[in-house]
Amino acid sequence: MAATVIDGKILSAKHMEELALRVKKLKEKGITPGLAVVLVGEDPASQIYVRSKEKACNDLGLYSVVMRLEADLSEERLLVEIDKLNRDDKIHGILVQLPLPKHISEDRVLARIDSKKDVDGFHVENVGKLFLNQPGIVACTPKGALEMIRSTGVPISGKEAVVIGRSNIVGRPMAMLLLNESATVTVCHSRTRDMKKYTQQADILVVAVGRPKLVTADMVKPGAIVIDVGINRVDGKVVGDVDYNSVKEVAGYITPVPGGVGRMTIAMLMDNTVSIAEQEAQV
Ligand code: NAD
Repeated sequence: MAATVIDGKILSAKHMEELALRVKKLKEKGITPGLAVVLVGEDPASQIYVRSKEKACNDLGLYSVVMRLEADLSEERLLVEIDKLNRDDKIHGILVQLPLPKHISEDRVLARIDSKKDVDGFHVENVGKLFLNQPGIVACTPKGALEMIRSTGVPISGKEAVVIGRSNIVGRPMAMLLLNESATVTVCHSRTRDMKKYTQQADILVVAVGRPKLVTADMVKPGAIVIDVGINRVDGKVVGDVDYNSVKEVAGYITPVPGGVGRMTIAMLMDNTVSIAEQEAQV
């Protein structure tokens, strides 16, 4: 039987409806949640992501600022701009769109964001809290992926979970979230030998690599929950890392690309922004 599709469009729309009510409550108290997105340079993919973030802010009635800065800007100048946003009371969340130009240290820039406004959850303080299973701001993509897994109603505790990819923005936080949910977690990466040996055991399989058709049907346990984080452009079309057509015949649940994790990432960004504003307002 073909897998149930976990529809990111439907799920994110539901989240946005709930968020709209939370925003309304905040506005009644005179608070408009504010998000600042900092974009350095003209990377085409980043421009698209920033536009969709801006649109989501507008849809929800958030205060939104997009700071577009030239690619040859010095690191020092960028840090000065971040300091200004850190001090700006109208801004609850600050997001620096990655990747940054090579001459700028991502680590130094992310560390400069006030950890309370770190809406992307990339600051070491928030990463540390996630590691220690303490409340903090969680990175949007893995948070959205977890919501998609939860939406199936299948209990996570005690399950075998495999995450493919170990990046700071997806793979690592994803593995930690699943561990915090009491799954037994294995992380596969570019140096993993015989990846199939691990993926075939996975009740939950999260793929975040950036390689079309990396995961094929023979690698998937029948009935598994398969979450495809990958975004690849092939012949002008956007595809994930999972060979969707074959894997959907084996998996129990599967996310599509497009219309999957990407949608939830934006919804979780809005959620993080609103949550920071709520904390400030002590809602
Ligand atoms: P990254 O390049 O930082 O990390 C890729 C990871 O894949 C690395 O840890 C590497 O070890 C691993 N890897 C590489 N080749 C492999 C192989 N052959 N087998 C197993 N593992 C391998 O990428 P990232 O930033 O984590 O993003 C991963 C993918 O997710 C990309 O396609 C990206 O566009 C997408 N992405 C999507 C969203 C979203 O909202 N849907 C958000 C962030 C990233």
